[in-house]
Amino acid sequence: MHIEGEEGEGVYDALDFLNKVRRGEPVDLGSRVLVIGGGNSAMDAARTAKRLTSGPVTVVYRRTRQEMPAIEEEIEEVLVEGITLEELASPARVILKEGRVAALECIRNELGEAGEDGRRKPIPIEGSEFEIEADAIIMAIGQVPDVSFLDGSSVSLRKNGTIAAHPQTCLTGEKHTYAGGDVVRGPSTIIEAIADGRRAAEAICRELGLETVPPAVVLHCLSKEEIVSLKKTRARKEPQNRAKMLPLEQRGGFDLVEETLTEEAALSEAARCLQCSTFCDKCVEVCPNRANYTYTISPVVLRLPKVSCQQSKLTAKGEEVFRLDQTRQIIHIDDFCNECGNCETFCLHDGKPYLDKPRLFLRESDFELEEDNAFYVERGAKGWTIRRREGGKEARLSVENGGHEALFENDLLKIRISTVGSPSSGSGRSPTNGPADFQIKAMEMKKDFQGEFSLAGPAKMYVILKGLSTSLAFLPFEEM
Ligand code: SF4
Ligand code: SF4
Repeated sequence: MHIEGEEGEGVYDALDFLNKVRRGEPVDLGSRVLVIGGGNSAMDAARTAKRLTSGPVTVVYRRTRQEMPAIEEEIEEVLVEGITLEELASPARVILKEGRVAALECIRNELGEAGEDGRRKPIPIEGSEFEIEADAIIMAIGQVPDVSFLDGSSVSLRKNGTIAAHPQTCLTGEKHTYAGGDVVRGPSTIIEAIADGRRAAEAICRELGLETVPPAVVLHCLSKEEIVSLKKTRARKEPQNRAKMLPLEQRGGFDLVEETLTEEAALSEAARCLQCSTFCDKCVEVCPNRANYTYTISPVVLRLPKVSCQQSKLTAKGEEVFRLDQTRQIIHIDDFCNECGNCETFCLHDGKPYLDKPRLFLRESDFELEEDNAFYVERGAKGWTIRRREGGKEARLSVENGGHEALFENDLLKIRISTVGSPSSGSGRSPTNGPADFQIKAMEMKKDFQGEFSLAGPAKMYVILKGLSTSLAFLPFEEM
């Protein structure tokens, strides 16, 4: 903390203190203990100190409880166990008597504007110094990584002492050097560190020219019966199954405070899962104008050839994979929406369904005025067509009834695609289900261009068209 007196006897670092206690080594706390900090380590240190001393234990924190980084349950247990919280107080100096801690001088803070991390900054109030008597002080304030071994390298550090690394690849400023976890993020979780490890490993493979295959996400496809049962579960309020806690009067030692759930309670807790990743539909339920609809698709994994145009010559070589695992998809019908924002408010993610989801227009004239994320579907005796506008340009894809071919066309290209391995949906007037491959049967250049054209866009159009024509065929699509 770099304050006067912190080298005195009775001042401890929280992690050293916890380590000593865990090893059974004696720690002289005296009677009155102050713990400085608001994170989980501070809460652990305070609860541990409370078990080792008969005097008061106080947590000193520079902001208020609302801004404390410790998890709420930890803060709650700290207070339940009789530890007090001194909010809006920053340590100014440790007052020593004969070399040992006698008190902590603090200065009172008020909260100012929010900082970069979104938390309001503590601002010391001049002349508000006060003292808290103590026999021991445990410092549980933020730690910084020891990166002295990087001196002389091109790895650059941020102002807070962490390593600057690319968020997606974990590559630092030094060639072939990757970093992740707390040394980049500051205090974070083991899960985030593992995720960084994966990103770095993938980036290293790419650098070495090795192919990486992302693990398949296996999503459970809910049956109609399961969806009905889930809707019933959502309509009821089921209390959480809480683990049994050690009664307060028995918490003098280091016995386990929070038990694990019994098998029965764990199963009952798991049954409360609302399976939002498989079935959400909140934006469908809350729209007062019925402007959002669910449609279903079969999960698809399509191998798409890559189309390239070099010196006015079209070729198809290489491959990219297009995959969609989630069987329930949302389409937004723009004609019905008055942009009330309800679906945005209720969306479980940080989404704006009325803008982010594919926006379907039922009137051609409205569709033609759109620049981006606009779709229009026509049906006729021969089959279905989907049109899409992106960047003010239009593309269309037509699928003939029961056929295994689709015709895609935009301002640059015309491509006849065979949807190989497509079992027929049997619905007669719908595009087919479950293709395994997109193969190019013929292609024609309408306008010269340089570079690659991805078939992921046509594949997305194909999947939407297939879903709409099979699950939402009742919508008033215009007849061709
Ligand atoms: S913004 Fe549009 S789609 Fe969303 S709830 Fe309102 S009317 Fe419905
Ligand atoms: S867009 Fe949001 S509200 Fe709608 S289904 Fe997806 S997560 Fe749920």
